[in-house]
Amino acid sequence: MPLFTTDSLEMLRHKIDLFEVLSAHLTFQRSGSTYKTLCPFHEEKTPSFIIQRGSAHYHCFGCGAHGDAISFLMTHVRMPFTEAVESLAERFQVHLEKEEEKGNPTPNKIALKKALAFASELYHYLLLHTEEGIEALNYLYKRGITLEFIRRFQIGFAPQHYSLLIQYLQSCGIEEDIMLQSGLIKMPSGGKKRDFFSERITFPILDSLGAVIGFSARKYKQDTFGGKYINSPETILFKKSRVLFGLSYSRVKIAKQQTAILVEGQIDALRLIDTGFDYVVAAQGTAFGEEHVKELLQLGIKKIYLALDADEAGQAATQKIGDLFQKNGIDTRVVALEKDKDPDLLLREKGPNHFTHLLETSSDYLNFLFFYLAKDRDLQIPSQKNQVVNQIVDQIKSWQQPVLIHESLKKLAEIAQVPEASIGISQICMPDLFIPQQESVSLQEVDGDRILELDLLRWLLMGSSQYPEMIGIAKANLKQDHFRVLSAWKLYIALLAGHQSGCFDLLAIGSSLNDPEEQKTLSELLQRKINLNKTKEGFIEALRKVLLRDWMQKREQIRIEIQTIGHSEEETLQLAYQFDVLKNQIPEVLIPKI
Ligand SMILES: [Zn+2]
Repeated sequence: MPLFTTDSLEMLRHKIDLFEVLSAHLTFQRSGSTYKTLCPFHEEKTPSFIIQRGSAHYHCFGCGAHGDAISFLMTHVRMPFTEAVESLAERFQVHLEKEEEKGNPTPNKIALKKALAFASELYHYLLLHTEEGIEALNYLYKRGITLEFIRRFQIGFAPQHYSLLIQYLQSCGIEEDIMLQSGLIKMPSGGKKRDFFSERITFPILDSLGAVIGFSARKYKQDTFGGKYINSPETILFKKSRVLFGLSYSRVKIAKQQTAILVEGQIDALRLIDTGFDYVVAAQGTAFGEEHVKELLQLGIKKIYLALDADEAGQAATQKIGDLFQKNGIDTRVVALEKDKDPDLLLREKGPNHFTHLLETSSDYLNFLFFYLAKDRDLQIPSQKNQVVNQIVDQIKSWQQPVLIHESLKKLAEIAQVPEASIGISQICMPDLFIPQQESVSLQEVDGDRILELDLLRWLLMGSSQYPEMIGIAKANLKQDHFRVLSAWKLYIALLAGHQSGCFDLLAIGSSLNDPEEQKTLSELLQRKINLNKTKEGFIEALRKVLLRDWMQKREQIRIEIQTIGHSEEETLQLAYQFDVLKNQIPEVLIPKI
């Protein structure tokens, strides 16, 4: 986790316009200096989520949700802390200085975004208003894409021209190295610099705050050089292994429903979003990998629908991508599309209800896998059936999670109609099968002390704006030795300090933490959702657990002391007395009188 300098965070804090950040995600109604909308954190019919013009905090009178721009991005848009800070810095044009990078300037993301925004405007203009764009435009119209749709998603057109974009960007005052760094132009070795995209329909890819960070471009004519889809090259903004097309539109819904749909092409994704299935992302060819899965896991998905094309390439991709989700314990469903019908075409021909029906009747991944692998084989021939089953058994055993493996093997036995014992279910409790991979279990993740203490701080942070008395309760009960995790204790101190100036200001708290470990703890703390209707109960309960843990440990210490050899009888009696006294003093949470 990068450590930002306090000065630069302070500068950012002053520049953030909360209304501007939130209105990218919510539609407000104005009355006087107050802006109101339906609360994104709870279901309601009349708006009780408000911000005051100029205030750094939002507040919901319905559910008590309260926070600043950072906490909104973290809880509603599900961005990690660092990403939230960085994106706000880009948006409000503050250069965030990192401690280790002092005097060592980072590439200017703001300048790159400006160049990309100019490029997007140009491409969009060229598609709609030029002779050259007509063929591409007709292609889109033929696919049932309307002018409104083109405008909504800023679809564009990169013509067959070596330097039209270069000339345009030059006229906008963009320097050449910015054009290169933004991936908009390329410089073949020994050749002349030229526009990166040529003769393609362009789809801007946006970050979570709506800024263009790259393009995905597809060909619309058979004879265009290169693959069906081409993306911007890797840049500091555009990380190919992580970028998911459509996520800027789908992020919130995906996090809310914990479900996503994965399709192949951009038009499929945009069509689904436009039709109300706004929890979709596009894989765009075969480049979909582990990092993409992680992006979705971070949003908390529990279920994924794979709606890739029915052709051989699409099915092979389904096999590979399905494995990535399944092994992470995600409920992976395979949507059966008809041959030559992608989701876009299906939606146009048969409407959204039909697509919903396809989602509802999707098959689970193992079922798909069995029939996919069996399709060129004759299952009546024992050796061929054996091959299919063994291949799947090997794949299942690589999934690392014992229960998942066990249940999947059982299911496979059922699908393949073979006895469970014949595919080795009885042996899978062999311990060597389950040596965890380093990435899957780290000590930190299973540290019960850490989980408990972060839980306590999370309730305190999220609840105390609604129940300010929580601060007093915390102070009356907690001392340093109640904390086992040092960064949690430090964060607690920072929270108390941050609260004195009114309510919590995450940026102020973040900037007061000058240890990467503490910043990481804060980020970890904010990434889990809590029930905002139960903050006070949750807080008291977590507090009680911390006190109990302390009490039990003290008892345990005395017990061990008693068993230690070398005490006189009197000392032992004394200890036994202490033990008895302590045993009857089960700790209660102290609620100070106001
Ligand atoms: Zn609310």
